[in-house]
Amino acid sequence: MSLRRRTLLKVIVLGDSGVGKTSLMNQYVHKKFTQQYKATIGADFVTKELQIDDRLVTLQIWDTAGQERFQSLGVAFYRGSDCCVLVYDVNVMKSFDTLDNWHEEFLKQANPANPRTFPFILLGNKIDVDGGNSRVVSEKKAKEWCASKGNIPYFETSAKEDYNVDPAFFSIGKTALANE
Ligand code: GDP
Ligand code: MG
Repeated sequence: MSLRRRTLLKVIVLGDSGVGKTSLMNQYVHKKFTQQYKATIGADFVTKELQIDDRLVTLQIWDTAGQERFQSLGVAFYRGSDCCVLVYDVNVMKSFDTLDNWHEEFLKQANPANPRTFPFILLGNKIDVDGGNSRVVSEKKAKEWCASKGNIPYFETSAKEDYNVDPAFFSIGKTALANE
C-alpha cells in the first residue's frame, strides 16, 4: 500500500542573495537559465516529480529571498520541512561564511524533532565562473564545514551550465525521503 502512495517532500532552499538559489531551481524544474537578476519576493515554491527507487515523490521546493529576515517568513514556512538545502557561491567568501547562520537559524525556526540528524545538503554553486579562476572557497574547505555539521552531503554545481544540478536534487530527494 505504501509503495503506491505519492509522497510529498518539502524542501527549503536557503542562502545569501545572489548565490543562485532561484537559478538552480529553474534549471532543475524548467531546464532554463537566465542571466537576468530578479530578486525573489518573499517565498514561493515549485514542484517536481521524481522516482526514487520504487517510490513516486513530489518535491515541493521552496525558494526564498536571501535578504529576507527569517522571522518575517514565519514559523509555518519552516514547519514540516523534510530537507534544507543550503547554497553558497564558491566565488564569494561571505556567502560561505554566512552558512553557519543559515544552518543555525533554520534549526531554530524549523525546530525539527532531531536537529542532530535533520537532513541538510550543501551546494557550492557557480563553479563555471571564469573557468574556476575566481573561486575563493576550496572543495576541501567546504567538505570540512560539512563534516563539522555531521556529514552534510556536498555538491558543486553550475546552474548556468546545468552541471550536477540533477544529481544534487536527486540526492536531496533521497535524503528527504530517508528522513520522512
Ligand atoms: P538567488 O538570489 O540566490 O536566487 O540568485 P539568482 O538565482 O537570482 O542568481 C543571481 C545571479 O547569478 C543571476 O544573474 C544568475 O544569472 C547568476 N547565476 C546563478 N547561478 C549561476 C551559475 O551557476 N553560474 C553563473 N555564471 N551565474 C549564475
Ligand atoms: Mg532568488
